[in-house]
Amino acid sequence: MPPHKARSARNSIGSLVATLAFAATPAFAADALDTLVAAYPETIQARLGNDLILHNGARLDAGVSDSAMPFDIVLIHASVRDMFRIAYPTGSPLTAPAENFDPGRFRNKALFDAMYGDCRKSEVTPNLVSVVWLPKHWGHQIEVTRINGVADRLSQISSEIDALPEPVRRAAWPIAGTYACRGVADAQQPSMHAYGAAIDLNLAFSSYWLWDSGKVARAVWRNRMPEQIVDIFERHGFIWGGRWYHYDTMHFEYRPELLGLAPAPASR
Ligand SMILES: [Zn+2]
Repeated sequence: MPPHKARSARNSIGSLVATLAFAATPAFAADALDTLVAAYPETIQARLGNDLILHNGARLDAGVSDSAMPFDIVLIHASVRDMFRIAYPTGSPLTAPAENFDPGRFRNKALFDAMYGDCRKSEVTPNLVSVVWLPKHWGHQIEVTRINGVADRLSQISSEIDALPEPVRRAAWPIAGTYACRGVADAQQPSMHAYGAAIDLNLAFSSYWLWDSGKVARAVWRNRMPEQIVDIFERHGFIWGGRWYHYDTMHFEYRPELLGLAPAPASR
């Protein structure tokens, strides 16, 4: 079995377990906190018991993940450990997720504030840098954070998408946005756009559950984002909003802790 298929099969099983039991599912290390330390070497220095120690001196309690806590409450008040409640699946095919299967939508605000800053306190913009998106076929500058190597990763992603065939590449530009100091529409929490660590691609190729909810009684998952583009982002540590029950198929955000990747190279 090729590595790609093996990973897909393993994640399918992990997804099933997460869906049925809604259980704490540390990604790829023995403990979720070790996975975080490995995924963010530039900002997280170490773990000490149930605490994370950041290079900037911040110390965060990872809390607990209470499986009895309702989905809507976790969405607003996720602990660090809650971020690993649902394992993120990769590989093909891209299919409709089960109800409330939203791997990556549980985000601990304190952790991301400590790493990227709080945009409402003007702490994010000093770390935004420009990346030329698809220099061969579009060539506009986008603003993203340099922290955790996000800008460098997006530059590599841009080069790979630039080399794709036109019909596939077309879904990646013009982009709909990167940095925006705003919250998630249904969760009253900062989105990864508020940290400069997310990108929305071509609006014309996107499907979003909240927009669809206005047209039908219950939003039904659909997708026009090419699998080649999803695969490139995931290989560079970005999760895709199309793998969520509450789908957002133009959305990608940097969440290497959910992808079990090797540590990112040190950024500029
Ligand atoms: Zn987005």
